[in-house]
Amino acid sequence: MVQEFLETTWEKFLNNIKQNVGDSLYKVWFSNLNLKSYHQHTLKIEVPSKFVKDWLEKKFYQLILKSIRELIPEVKNIEFVVSNKPTLQITTKKVSTKKITAFLKEKNLTIFEVNPQTNLNPRYRFDNFVVGKSNELAYSAALGVARSPGKIHNPLFIHGPVGVGKTHLLQAIGNEVLKLHKNLKVKYVTTEEFTNEFINALKNHNIEEFKFKFRDTDVLILDDVHFLSGKTASQEELFHTFNYLYNLSKQIVFSSDRPPRLISDIEERLRSRFEGGLVIDIQPPDLETRLAILKLKSQEKGLILDDKIYELIAQKITHNIRELEGALSVVFFYYQQENQKLSLEKIEEIIKKFSKDYYRKVTPKKIIKTLAEHYEIKEEDIFKKTRTKEIVQIRHYLIYFLRELGQFSYTSIGKLLKKDHTTIIYAYEKIVEKMKNSSEISQEIELLKSKILES
Ligand code: ADP
Ligand code: MG
Repeated sequence: MVQEFLETTWEKFLNNIKQNVGDSLYKVWFSNLNLKSYHQHTLKIEVPSKFVKDWLEKKFYQLILKSIRELIPEVKNIEFVVSNKPTLQITTKKVSTKKITAFLKEKNLTIFEVNPQTNLNPRYRFDNFVVGKSNELAYSAALGVARSPGKIHNPLFIHGPVGVGKTHLLQAIGNEVLKLHKNLKVKYVTTEEFTNEFINALKNHNIEEFKFKFRDTDVLILDDVHFLSGKTASQEELFHTFNYLYNLSKQIVFSSDRPPRLISDIEERLRSRFEGGLVIDIQPPDLETRLAILKLKSQEKGLILDDKIYELIAQKITHNIRELEGALSVVFFYYQQENQKLSLEKIEEIIKKFSKDYYRKVTPKKIIKTLAEHYEIKEEDIFKKTRTKEIVQIRHYLIYFLRELGQFSYTSIGKLLKKDHTTIIYAYEKIVEKMKNSSEISQEIELLKSKILES
Protein backbone atom coordinates (compact mmCIF):
# COMPACT_ATOMS: atom_id res chain seq x y z
CA MET A 1 0.00 0.00 0.00
CA VAL A 2 1.26 3.45 -0.82
CA GLN A 3 2.94 5.13 2.11
CA GLU A 4 1.16 8.42 1.57
CA PHE A 5 -2.22 6.76 1.62
CA LEU A 6 -1.33 5.03 4.85
CA GLU A 7 -0.27 8.26 6.47
CA THR A 8 -3.45 10.15 5.69
CA THR A 9 -5.45 7.14 6.80
CA TRP A 10 -3.51 7.08 10.04
CA GLU A 11 -4.38 10.72 10.71
CA LYS A 12 -8.04 10.00 10.09
CA PHE A 13 -7.87 6.97 12.33
CA LEU A 14 -6.40 8.99 15.20
CA ASN A 15 -9.10 11.61 14.79
CA ASN A 16 -11.82 9.00 14.92
CA ILE A 17 -10.36 7.52 18.05
CA LYS A 18 -10.14 10.92 19.68
CA GLN A 19 -13.82 11.52 19.01
CA ASN A 20 -14.65 8.13 20.39
CA VAL A 21 -12.71 8.15 23.62
CA GLY A 22 -12.52 11.86 24.40
CA ASP A 23 -9.52 14.14 24.86
CA SER A 24 -8.11 12.95 28.15
CA LEU A 25 -8.14 9.22 27.41
CA TYR A 26 -6.78 9.97 24.00
CA LYS A 27 -3.92 11.89 25.52
CA VAL A 28 -3.10 9.12 27.95
CA TRP A 29 -3.20 6.16 25.57
CA PHE A 30 -3.08 7.27 21.96
CA SER A 31 -1.02 10.41 21.61
CA ASN A 32 2.29 8.54 21.37
CA LEU A 33 1.43 5.89 18.83
CA ASN A 34 3.09 5.54 15.45
CA LEU A 35 2.16 3.63 12.40
CA LYS A 36 4.87 1.07 11.78
CA SER A 37 3.89 -1.12 8.85
CA TYR A 38 1.14 -2.84 6.97
CA HIS A 39 1.77 -6.25 5.57
CA GLN A 40 -0.39 -9.26 4.81
CA HIS A 41 -3.49 -7.86 6.43
CA THR A 42 -1.63 -7.03 9.63
CA LEU A 43 -1.19 -3.47 10.71
CA LYS A 44 1.66 -2.88 13.12
CA ILE A 45 1.46 0.04 15.51
CA GLU A 46 4.42 1.25 17.48
CA VAL A 47 3.69 2.00 21.15
CA PRO A 48 5.96 3.65 23.72
CA SER A 49 5.95 0.84 26.30
CA LYS A 50 4.74 -2.58 27.23
CA PHE A 51 2.39 -0.99 29.63
CA VAL A 52 0.60 0.94 26.90
CA LYS A 53 0.63 -2.18 24.72
CA ASP A 54 -1.13 -4.19 27.42
CA TRP A 55 -3.76 -1.57 27.95
CA LEU A 56 -4.48 -1.09 24.30
CA GLU A 57 -4.79 -4.83 23.82
CA LYS A 58 -6.98 -5.27 26.82
CA LYS A 59 -9.23 -2.26 26.66
CA PHE A 60 -9.19 -0.82 23.19
CA TYR A 61 -8.43 -3.62 20.76
CA GLN A 62 -11.94 -3.86 19.31
CA LEU A 63 -12.31 -0.14 18.99
CA ILE A 64 -8.96 0.18 17.23
CA LEU A 65 -9.69 -2.67 14.86
CA LYS A 66 -13.11 -1.34 14.04
CA SER A 67 -11.85 2.17 13.38
CA ILE A 68 -9.07 0.91 11.14
CA ARG A 69 -11.40 -1.31 9.21
CA GLU A 70 -13.68 1.56 8.47
CA LEU A 71 -10.76 3.06 6.60
CA ILE A 72 -8.97 -0.05 5.31
CA PRO A 73 -11.50 -2.88 5.25
CA GLU A 74 -8.98 -5.60 4.47
CA VAL A 75 -7.09 -5.25 7.78
CA LYS A 76 -7.48 -8.43 9.83
CA ASN A 77 -5.04 -8.01 12.68
CA ILE A 78 -3.48 -5.29 14.73
CA GLU A 79 -0.13 -5.84 16.35
CA PHE A 80 1.41 -3.52 18.88
CA VAL A 81 5.17 -3.26 18.87
CA VAL A 82 6.99 -1.66 21.77
CA SER A 83 9.29 1.10 20.59
CA ASN A 84 12.91 1.02 21.65
CA LYS A 85 13.58 4.70 21.26
CA PRO A 86 15.38 6.18 24.24
CA THR A 87 13.19 8.51 26.25
CA LEU A 88 15.59 9.81 28.86
CA GLN A 89 17.07 13.26 29.07
CA ILE A 90 20.04 12.35 31.13
CA THR A 91 21.82 9.17 30.31
CA THR A 92 21.43 6.58 32.96
CA LYS A 93 22.91 3.26 32.18
CA LYS A 94 20.69 0.97 34.12
CA VAL A 95 17.83 -0.29 32.03
CA SER A 96 15.48 -0.50 34.94
CA THR A 97 15.81 3.23 35.63
CA LYS A 98 15.14 3.98 32.02
CA LYS A 99 12.06 1.90 32.13
CA ILE A 100 10.81 3.52 35.27
CA THR A 101 11.35 7.00 33.96
CA ALA A 102 9.74 6.23 30.64
CA PHE A 103 6.81 4.68 32.36
CA LEU A 104 6.35 7.54 34.76
CA LYS A 105 6.68 9.97 31.91
CA GLU A 106 3.71 8.43 30.23
CA LYS A 107 1.70 8.86 33.34
CA ASN A 108 2.42 12.54 33.48
CA LEU A 109 1.47 13.70 30.07
CA THR A 110 0.32 17.11 31.08
CA ILE A 111 3.38 19.22 31.57
CA PHE A 112 2.73 22.47 33.30
CA GLU A 113 4.81 25.51 32.76
CA VAL A 114 5.65 28.04 35.39
CA ASN A 115 4.89 31.58 34.29
CA PRO A 116 8.16 33.52 34.64
CA GLN A 117 6.39 36.79 35.47
CA THR A 118 4.15 35.54 38.25
CA ASN A 119 6.10 32.36 39.16
CA LEU A 120 2.76 30.59 39.21
CA ASN A 121 2.40 26.98 38.17
CA PRO A 122 -1.07 26.27 36.73
CA ARG A 123 -0.86 22.79 38.20
CA TYR A 124 -1.79 24.10 41.64
CA ARG A 125 -5.46 24.97 41.76
CA PHE A 126 -8.36 24.95 44.17
CA ASP A 127 -10.21 22.44 42.04
CA ASN A 128 -7.50 19.81 42.50
CA PHE A 129 -6.96 20.46 46.18
CA VAL A 130 -8.65 17.85 48.34
CA VAL A 131 -10.36 19.43 51.32
CA GLY A 132 -10.53 17.58 54.64
CA LYS A 133 -10.63 18.41 58.34
CA SER A 134 -6.91 19.11 58.44
CA ASN A 135 -6.96 21.86 55.84
CA GLU A 136 -10.53 23.12 55.46
CA LEU A 137 -9.99 26.34 57.36
CA ALA A 138 -6.86 27.19 55.43
CA TYR A 139 -8.67 26.28 52.22
CA SER A 140 -11.64 28.56 52.85
CA ALA A 141 -9.43 31.42 54.01
CA ALA A 142 -7.35 31.04 50.85
CA LEU A 143 -10.43 30.95 48.67
CA GLY A 144 -11.81 34.03 50.42
CA VAL A 145 -8.57 35.89 49.79
CA ALA A 146 -8.57 34.90 46.14
CA ARG A 147 -12.11 36.17 45.71
CA SER A 148 -11.60 39.49 47.49
CA PRO A 149 -7.89 40.23 47.60
CA GLY A 150 -6.88 42.88 50.11
CA LYS A 151 -10.32 43.00 51.65
CA ILE A 152 -10.85 40.24 54.19
CA HIS A 153 -7.78 38.54 55.63
CA ASN A 154 -4.74 40.70 55.24
CA PRO A 155 -2.13 39.36 55.56
CA LEU A 156 -3.06 35.71 55.39
CA PHE A 157 -0.46 33.58 57.15
CA ILE A 158 -0.64 29.82 56.60
CA HIS A 159 1.66 27.53 58.52
CA GLY A 160 2.19 23.80 58.82
CA PRO A 161 4.84 21.08 58.46
CA VAL A 162 6.49 19.98 55.22
CA GLY A 163 4.38 18.50 52.47
CA VAL A 164 0.90 19.34 53.73
CA GLY A 165 -0.11 21.60 50.84
CA LYS A 166 1.02 25.11 51.81
CA THR A 167 2.64 25.87 48.49
CA HIS A 168 -0.30 24.32 46.68
CA LEU A 169 -2.75 26.64 48.44
CA LEU A 170 -0.58 29.73 48.00
CA GLN A 171 -0.19 29.06 44.32
CA ALA A 172 -3.90 28.32 44.00
CA ILE A 173 -4.64 31.76 45.43
CA GLY A 174 -2.45 33.32 42.76
CA ASN A 175 -3.97 31.31 39.92
CA GLU A 176 -7.51 32.01 41.10
CA VAL A 177 -6.90 35.75 41.47
CA LEU A 178 -5.71 35.87 37.88
CA LYS A 179 -8.79 34.00 36.79
CA LEU A 180 -11.28 36.14 38.68
CA HIS A 181 -9.60 39.54 38.48
CA LYS A 182 -7.90 39.76 35.14
CA ASN A 183 -6.42 43.21 35.71
CA LEU A 184 -4.62 42.41 38.96
CA LYS A 185 -0.89 41.74 39.19
CA VAL A 186 0.18 38.71 41.15
CA LYS A 187 3.65 37.70 42.23
CA TYR A 188 4.60 34.45 43.96
CA VAL A 189 8.10 34.13 45.35
CA THR A 190 9.82 31.84 47.77
CA THR A 191 11.49 33.63 50.65
CA GLU A 192 14.80 32.14 49.58
CA GLU A 193 14.42 33.78 46.16
CA PHE A 194 13.34 37.05 47.73
CA THR A 195 16.41 37.03 49.95
CA ASN A 196 18.78 36.09 47.14
CA GLU A 197 17.41 38.72 44.82
CA PHE A 198 17.72 41.29 47.55
CA ILE A 199 21.35 40.43 48.19
CA ASN A 200 22.10 40.54 44.49
CA ALA A 201 20.37 43.88 44.16
CA LEU A 202 22.53 45.23 46.96
CA LYS A 203 25.66 43.89 45.30
CA ASN A 204 24.76 45.23 41.89
CA HIS A 205 23.41 48.55 43.11
CA ASN A 206 19.99 48.10 41.60
CA ILE A 207 17.93 48.19 44.72
CA GLU A 208 15.37 50.51 43.12
CA GLU A 209 14.61 47.93 40.51
CA PHE A 210 14.23 45.30 43.22
CA LYS A 211 11.85 47.52 45.18
CA PHE A 212 9.75 48.24 42.15
CA LYS A 213 9.51 44.58 41.25
CA PHE A 214 7.96 43.60 44.56
CA ARG A 215 5.91 46.73 45.12
CA ASP A 216 4.34 46.88 41.72
CA THR A 217 1.89 44.12 42.55
CA ASP A 218 -1.66 43.68 43.84
CA VAL A 219 -1.12 40.30 45.43
CA LEU A 220 2.28 39.38 46.84
CA ILE A 221 2.70 35.76 47.90
CA LEU A 222 5.78 34.87 49.92
CA ASP A 223 6.34 31.17 50.59
CA ASP A 224 8.36 29.76 53.51
CA VAL A 225 9.07 32.92 55.50
CA HIS A 226 10.72 30.93 58.30
CA PHE A 227 13.71 31.17 55.99
CA LEU A 228 14.12 34.80 57.07
CA SER A 229 15.31 33.70 60.47
CA GLY A 230 18.60 35.46 61.22
CA LYS A 231 18.62 37.45 57.96
CA THR A 232 18.36 40.95 59.31
CA ALA A 233 18.73 43.00 56.14
CA SER A 234 16.19 40.95 54.21
CA GLN A 235 13.78 41.19 57.13
CA GLU A 236 14.03 44.92 57.08
CA GLU A 237 13.42 45.08 53.37
CA LEU A 238 10.40 42.82 53.67
CA PHE A 239 9.08 44.98 56.50
CA HIS A 240 9.13 48.05 54.24
CA THR A 241 7.70 46.17 51.28
CA PHE A 242 4.93 44.93 53.53
CA ASN A 243 4.05 48.38 54.82
CA TYR A 244 4.04 49.83 51.36
CA LEU A 245 1.66 47.22 49.99
CA TYR A 246 -0.49 47.05 53.10
CA ASN A 247 -1.10 50.78 53.10
CA LEU A 248 -2.38 50.51 49.57
CA SER A 249 -4.70 47.63 50.63
CA LYS A 250 -2.80 45.16 48.50
CA GLN A 251 -3.09 41.53 49.51
CA ILE A 252 -0.13 39.76 51.11
CA VAL A 253 0.03 36.04 51.76
CA PHE A 254 2.70 34.22 53.76
CA SER A 255 3.50 30.63 54.54
CA SER A 256 5.88 29.16 57.05
CA ASP A 257 6.70 25.83 58.65
CA ARG A 258 5.75 27.24 62.06
CA PRO A 259 3.56 29.98 63.55
CA PRO A 260 5.05 33.51 63.69
CA ARG A 261 5.74 33.32 67.42
CA LEU A 262 8.04 30.32 66.90
CA ILE A 263 10.18 31.79 64.14
CA SER A 264 13.46 32.51 65.84
CA ASP A 265 15.76 35.45 65.15
CA ILE A 266 13.17 37.65 63.65
CA GLU A 267 12.44 41.28 64.35
CA GLU A 268 9.49 41.90 66.61
CA ARG A 269 7.92 44.44 64.28
CA LEU A 270 7.92 41.97 61.40
CA ARG A 271 6.51 39.24 63.59
CA SER A 272 3.66 41.49 64.61
CA ARG A 273 2.96 42.18 60.93
CA PHE A 274 2.76 38.44 60.31
CA GLU A 275 0.29 38.14 63.13
CA GLY A 276 -1.76 41.17 62.14
CA GLY A 277 -4.24 39.44 59.85
CA LEU A 278 -5.40 35.84 59.88
CA VAL A 279 -2.98 33.14 61.07
CA ILE A 280 -4.13 29.66 60.26
CA ASP A 281 -2.55 26.23 60.26
CA ILE A 282 -2.70 23.12 58.10
CA GLN A 283 -2.25 19.78 59.80
CA PRO A 284 -1.17 16.50 58.24
CA PRO A 285 -4.22 15.00 56.52
CA ASP A 286 -6.40 12.36 58.18
CA LEU A 287 -6.84 8.92 56.64
CA GLU A 288 -9.94 9.83 54.70
CA THR A 289 -8.26 12.85 53.13
CA ARG A 290 -5.17 10.84 52.30
CA LEU A 291 -7.31 8.30 50.50
CA ALA A 292 -9.10 11.00 48.55
CA ILE A 293 -5.77 12.57 47.57
CA LEU A 294 -4.41 9.22 46.37
CA LYS A 295 -7.47 8.67 44.23
CA LEU A 296 -7.30 12.11 42.75
CA LYS A 297 -3.61 11.76 41.92
CA SER A 298 -4.24 8.34 40.34
CA GLN A 299 -6.93 9.77 38.17
CA GLU A 300 -4.61 12.52 37.08
CA LYS A 301 -2.09 9.87 36.08
CA GLY A 302 -4.72 7.86 34.24
CA LEU A 303 -4.52 4.69 36.30
CA ILE A 304 -6.87 3.26 38.88
CA LEU A 305 -5.67 0.75 41.47
CA ASP A 306 -7.53 -1.54 43.79
CA ASP A 307 -8.98 0.22 46.83
CA LYS A 308 -6.97 -2.07 49.12
CA ILE A 309 -3.77 -0.68 47.67
CA TYR A 310 -4.81 2.90 48.34
CA GLU A 311 -5.76 1.98 51.85
CA LEU A 312 -2.42 0.41 52.49
CA ILE A 313 -0.47 3.39 51.18
CA ALA A 314 -2.67 5.82 53.08
CA GLN A 315 -2.19 3.85 56.28
CA LYS A 316 1.57 3.73 55.97
CA ILE A 317 2.29 7.27 54.87
CA THR A 318 0.68 9.64 57.25
CA HIS A 319 2.45 12.97 57.39
CA ASN A 320 3.62 14.18 54.06
CA ILE A 321 1.52 14.42 50.91
CA ARG A 322 4.56 14.77 48.71
CA GLU A 323 5.69 11.39 49.99
CA LEU A 324 2.24 10.00 49.45
CA GLU A 325 2.53 11.02 45.80
CA GLY A 326 6.05 9.63 45.57
CA ALA A 327 4.96 6.29 46.98
CA LEU A 328 2.06 6.15 44.57
CA SER A 329 4.35 6.68 41.58
CA VAL A 330 6.66 3.92 42.66
CA VAL A 331 3.76 1.55 43.34
CA PHE A 332 2.42 2.34 39.87
CA PHE A 333 5.72 1.36 38.40
CA TYR A 334 5.96 -1.99 40.14
CA TYR A 335 2.33 -2.64 39.42
CA GLN A 336 3.10 -2.42 35.74
CA GLN A 337 6.36 -4.35 36.02
CA GLU A 338 4.71 -7.25 37.77
CA ASN A 339 1.91 -7.32 35.25
CA GLN A 340 -0.60 -5.89 37.63
CA LYS A 341 -0.23 -8.74 40.08
CA LEU A 342 1.24 -6.99 43.05
CA SER A 343 0.81 -8.53 46.47
CA LEU A 344 0.02 -6.29 49.38
CA GLU A 345 3.21 -7.52 51.09
CA LYS A 346 5.26 -6.30 48.17
CA ILE A 347 3.54 -2.92 48.28
CA GLU A 348 4.23 -2.70 51.95
CA GLU A 349 7.88 -3.35 51.28
CA ILE A 350 7.97 -0.73 48.53
CA ILE A 351 6.48 2.01 50.63
CA LYS A 352 8.36 1.23 53.78
CA LYS A 353 11.20 3.35 52.59
CA PHE A 354 8.96 6.38 52.49
CA SER A 355 8.41 6.29 56.19
CA LYS A 356 10.04 8.84 58.45
CA ASP A 357 12.63 6.73 60.25
CA TYR A 358 14.66 6.31 57.13
CA TYR A 359 15.66 9.95 57.07
CA ARG A 360 17.76 9.66 60.17
CA LYS A 361 20.20 7.32 58.54
CA VAL A 362 21.20 9.46 55.58
CA THR A 363 24.92 10.34 55.45
CA PRO A 364 26.92 12.06 52.69
CA LYS A 365 28.70 8.75 52.12
CA LYS A 366 25.46 6.95 51.42
CA ILE A 367 24.28 9.59 49.00
CA ILE A 368 27.56 9.57 47.08
CA LYS A 369 27.64 5.79 46.95
CA THR A 370 24.08 5.54 45.70
CA LEU A 371 24.60 8.16 43.00
CA ALA A 372 27.80 6.50 41.81
CA GLU A 373 26.15 3.12 41.66
CA HIS A 374 23.07 4.39 39.97
CA TYR A 375 24.95 6.18 37.21
CA GLU A 376 27.67 3.57 37.08
CA ILE A 377 30.55 5.91 37.67
CA LYS A 378 33.32 5.91 40.26
CA GLU A 379 32.63 7.81 43.46
CA GLU A 380 35.65 10.03 42.90
CA ASP A 381 34.39 10.99 39.43
CA ILE A 382 31.69 13.05 41.10
CA PHE A 383 34.39 15.30 42.55
CA LYS A 384 36.57 15.56 39.45
CA LYS A 385 36.93 18.94 37.86
CA THR A 386 35.09 17.87 34.73
CA ARG A 387 32.22 19.80 33.31
CA THR A 388 30.51 17.11 31.31
CA LYS A 389 26.79 17.59 31.51
CA GLU A 390 26.18 14.29 33.19
CA ILE A 391 28.68 14.82 35.99
CA VAL A 392 27.53 18.37 36.63
CA GLN A 393 23.96 17.12 36.87
CA ILE A 394 24.98 14.37 39.30
CA ARG A 395 26.86 16.89 41.43
CA HIS A 396 23.74 19.03 41.56
CA TYR A 397 21.74 16.02 42.65
CA LEU A 398 24.29 15.37 45.36
CA ILE A 399 23.87 18.90 46.65
CA TYR A 400 20.12 18.58 46.50
CA PHE A 401 20.07 15.34 48.49
CA LEU A 402 22.58 16.56 51.05
CA ARG A 403 20.21 19.37 51.78
CA GLU A 404 16.87 17.57 51.43
CA LEU A 405 17.67 14.24 53.01
CA GLY A 406 20.78 14.98 55.02
CA GLN A 407 19.51 18.34 56.30
CA PHE A 408 22.96 19.89 55.86
CA SER A 409 23.40 23.65 55.73
CA TYR A 410 24.58 25.31 52.53
CA THR A 411 27.82 26.25 54.25
CA SER A 412 28.65 22.73 55.33
CA ILE A 413 27.81 21.36 51.88
CA GLY A 414 30.11 24.06 50.48
CA LYS A 415 32.91 22.86 52.75
CA LEU A 416 32.39 19.26 51.74
CA LEU A 417 32.52 20.07 48.03
CA LYS A 418 35.11 22.84 48.38
CA LYS A 419 32.78 25.38 46.84
CA ASP A 420 31.43 28.75 47.80
CA HIS A 421 28.04 28.54 49.51
CA THR A 422 26.38 30.70 46.84
CA THR A 423 27.38 28.09 44.25
CA ILE A 424 25.69 25.50 46.42
CA ILE A 425 22.51 27.55 46.73
CA TYR A 426 22.50 28.04 42.99
CA ALA A 427 22.84 24.31 42.33
CA TYR A 428 20.17 23.42 44.85
CA GLU A 429 17.73 25.92 43.41
CA LYS A 430 18.44 24.76 39.94
CA ILE A 431 17.31 21.26 40.83
CA VAL A 432 14.23 22.53 42.64
CA GLU A 433 13.39 24.58 39.56
CA LYS A 434 13.96 21.63 37.23
CA MET A 435 11.74 19.46 39.37
CA LYS A 436 8.99 22.02 39.17
CA ASN A 437 9.16 22.14 35.42
CA SER A 438 9.84 18.56 34.49
CA SER A 439 7.96 15.61 35.80
CA GLU A 440 10.71 13.44 34.38
CA ILE A 441 13.35 15.01 36.60
CA SER A 442 11.14 14.95 39.65
CA GLN A 443 10.43 11.28 39.15
CA GLU A 444 14.11 10.58 38.65
CA ILE A 445 14.79 12.34 41.94
CA GLU A 446 12.01 10.40 43.63
CA LEU A 447 13.60 7.19 42.44
CA LEU A 448 17.08 8.18 43.58
CA LYS A 449 15.65 9.26 46.88
CA SER A 450 14.09 5.89 47.46
CA LYS A 451 17.39 4.24 46.57
CA ILE A 452 19.29 6.41 49.03
CA LEU A 453 16.80 5.76 51.78
CA GLU A 454 16.95 2.06 51.04
CA SER A 455 20.75 1.86 51.01
P1 ADP B 1 4.21 22.22 51.44
O1 ADP B 1 4.37 23.50 50.69
O2 ADP B 1 3.31 22.33 52.62
O3 ADP B 1 5.53 21.58 51.79
P2 ADP B 1 3.11 21.30 48.94
O4 ADP B 1 2.06 22.32 48.73
O5 ADP B 1 4.35 21.43 48.13
O6 ADP B 1 3.48 21.17 50.47
O7 ADP B 1 2.44 19.86 48.72
C1 ADP B 1 3.19 18.70 48.38
C2 ADP B 1 2.47 17.94 47.29
O8 ADP B 1 1.25 17.45 47.79
C3 ADP B 1 2.12 18.80 46.09
O9 ADP B 1 2.31 18.03 44.93
C4 ADP B 1 0.67 19.14 46.28
O10 ADP B 1 0.01 19.31 45.04
C5 ADP B 1 0.15 17.92 47.01
N1 ADP B 1 -0.94 18.25 47.93
C6 ADP B 1 -0.83 18.74 49.17
N2 ADP B 1 -2.03 18.89 49.74
C7 ADP B 1 -2.94 18.49 48.84
C8 ADP B 1 -4.37 18.39 48.83
N3 ADP B 1 -5.10 18.74 49.89
N4 ADP B 1 -4.97 17.93 47.71
C9 ADP B 1 -4.24 17.56 46.65
N5 ADP B 1 -2.90 17.61 46.58
C10 ADP B 1 -2.25 18.08 47.66
MG1 MG C 1 6.14 24.53 50.20
